Amino acid sequence: MTFVLPHLSYSYDALEPFIDEETMRIHHTKHHQSYIDNANLVLSEVPEFVNLSVLDLVKKIDLFPDSKRDFLRNNIGGHLNHSLFWKFLKYGTILEGSLKNSIEYSFSSIYNFKKKFENISMNRFGSGWVWLVKKDNSDSLDIVSTANQDNPLMSEKIVGLSNIGYPIFGLDVWEHAYYLKYKNRRLDYVQSFWNILNWDEASMRFNSFN
Ligand code: MN
Repeated sequence: MTFVLPHLSYSYDALEPFIDEETMRIHHTKHHQSYIDNANLVLSEVPEFVNLSVLDLVKKIDLFPDSKRDFLRNNIGGHLNHSLFWKFLKYGTILEGSLKNSIEYSFSSIYNFKKKFENISMNRFGSGWVWLVKKDNSDSLDIVSTANQDNPLMSEKIVGLSNIGYPIFGLDVWEHAYYLKYKNRRLDYVQSFWNILNWDEASMRFNSFN
């Protein structure tokens, strides 16, 4: 299987002013493309893995040859994370229904949920992601942060027990995701995300997991 860059269902300027057109264009056509090119390169060298889907690959990274594992982990992770991320972005959706109820149950209020998400985003040192996840063994939702291009769907051995779960949505907090517009002001970027978080996609993922 050769991975290809997914088309966006919206234009690069659709998220203005919260995420600017230039950032979206570079993020999609350069950063995401680079993860895909690197993943295709390393997979071409290990034929036994070449027909797996991106989801199967991220779950089996610990089975990969030692010499190629970190390269695959970073690049297949980058491909999955960005493929998800584009779908998590849409202006003007509303949090409602069972996902809203579950967030209120898990964090006591939407306000507290947002503050916790913002705090964890600020505490991610360096590059990584922040995720709302559903845990297998719990009725509650949780917020976790993974380093680099790790994903909560990776194995416990790779990301640690506290970070595994089913991602409802996630936010890219690498500087490349916001630096052109927000410079060092990561918090402003994270808070602007609330305007363009696609709650419809998040609800669909939440309901399909249950
Ligand atoms: Mn990114």
